[in-house]
Amino acid sequence: MKWKNRRRSSNVDDRRAQRMKSGAKFSIGGIIMALIAIFVFKQDPMQVVTGMVGGQSSSTITEQTNYEPSAEEQEVYDFVSVVLADTEDTWANFFKQSNQRYPQPTLVVYRDMTPTACGTGQAASGPFYCPADQKIYLDLSFLGELKRMGASGDFAVAYVLAHEVGHHIQTIYGISDKVRSAQRQTNKAGQNALQVKMELQADCLAGVWTNRTQQRTQFLETGDLEEALSAAEAVGDDTIMKRAGMPPRREAFTHGSAQERMYWFNQGANSGNANACNTFQGTI
Ligand SMILES: [Zn+2]
Repeated sequence: MKWKNRRRSSNVDDRRAQRMKSGAKFSIGGIIMALIAIFVFKQDPMQVVTGMVGGQSSSTITEQTNYEPSAEEQEVYDFVSVVLADTEDTWANFFKQSNQRYPQPTLVVYRDMTPTACGTGQAASGPFYCPADQKIYLDLSFLGELKRMGASGDFAVAYVLAHEVGHHIQTIYGISDKVRSAQRQTNKAGQNALQVKMELQADCLAGVWTNRTQQRTQFLETGDLEEALSAAEAVGDDTIMKRAGMPPRREAFTHGSAQERMYWFNQGANSGNANACNTFQGTI
């Protein structure tokens, strides 16, 4: 992706120098259980995070440290700031077409743990979007994890961020609320099926963003789309279950199979049309 010397978003909240001092207390056992829940059973990280801090005070104390990022990490930080700016410009154009203003989300870059309106954010959860504060939480160490999962290249990172912005778009349009109320009326398998549709739509919206940003800025380089697709494949539920040595079980999927994630990213990327992202097809 061509990104050097391009606009950086001013909506990045740099919390890398902050350390959470106290507040929610976690046992090592609890954190391991959460990791298993997230990576093996692919539960929604937010549910796990919220579950872990359930009932505890949300007031957390953070302290400032003298944190010096490495040159490599700073480059990733600068890169995500440019990607966020590209999501702002592209989605602002999209909203303008219907005479609406795009409410920009904040990107919080943190290390290890940070307080969020959805409970304590944990690096182990991977990147997530919290609808209650309309912020995306990203621990840069996840990007190393993504590489180990077989997704490398800068556009793999852009895809991940654009997917989280997709959840922000779903929140603004009230889709997330509709999904949550539909989930309350069904069983676990039904809830997971709705969650999958939600995730696939966010993948499709990441594709729409890619298409429209390309039209606007010609930012793609050779191999970028393949990087996004390989990231979509690496984070497919079946890929993750197989990697964990488990047979893939569709009823336990919460994000969609590798094939579905690639399919829906492509739907958006080929059409550039958000109407092509109708993963729900009348189910909500
Ligand atoms: Zn998601």
